[in-house]
Amino acid sequence: MMVEEGQTIAVWFSCGAASAVAAKLAIQQYGNIANVRVLNTPVLEEGADNQRFRKDVGNWLGVKIETVTNPKWPENSAQAVWDKTRFLSGPFGARCTLELKKNARYAWEKDNHADWHILGFTADENDRFQRFKLTERSNVIPILAMYGLKKRGCFEILEKEGIRLPEAYALGYPNANCRGCVKATSPDYWNLVRRVDPDVFAARVQTSRDLGVRLVEIHKERVFLDELPTQAEQQSLIPSPDCGFWCEEPAGEPS
Ligand code: SF4
Repeated sequence: MMVEEGQTIAVWFSCGAASAVAAKLAIQQYGNIANVRVLNTPVLEEGADNQRFRKDVGNWLGVKIETVTNPKWPENSAQAVWDKTRFLSGPFGARCTLELKKNARYAWEKDNHADWHILGFTADENDRFQRFKLTERSNVIPILAMYGLKKRGCFEILEKEGIRLPEAYALGYPNANCRGCVKATSPDYWNLVRRVDPDVFAARVQTSRDLGVRLVEIHKERVFLDELPTQAEQQSLIPSPDCGFWCEEPAGEPS
């Protein structure tokens, strides 16, 4: 990548392991010539431990992680977005990601310039990377792929550095996104939410019933959350994609 002296690189840190390592590599590789800014768009529905992780990662990186928000939604609450817009998620994405991630980034881009963007696309997520390049910004550096790093490798780096991952991973979540992510359709994912975050599950049941959205997919049939059997047939834990800019991808099956 032809990063030139004096350019600005925006690293979008999602409080996940991959984007943490991406930020570290960006600073190592380009920090001596470019202005590397590490940016986070927090969502209230993420686990509280994400903030501890963000602090630990900031200390590790030696930079201040900046908060980017959509001024229209000062409380950064996905629930507030769903309640006010009366829209949860559909085939083209979730309203919360549009408002709290994508539009937050657009708001930041209005007042700030980035020559390059870096996200936590891992080496095996080339399709997501290409999609983002095609539909969002072409000036993206696939830094984890440049180092051949997949998610496991990112976990190992953080482990070695003594940085404890956000609690969500230990609970069995595939990422540190919002608990009860409305882009998820997997029965196993939602049964995990029911087990480890019963209050969140109850809240999603209520909101999805109110808005008439069948969030779970069982054998290609959509059902309401409260119709999901506790012992749903075991499928792989299909998560929603990471809610960095993965959020901006359509809902449903991850790539
Ligand atoms: S992680 Fe899920 S619930 Fe949270 S903002 Fe992204 S799409 Fe919405």
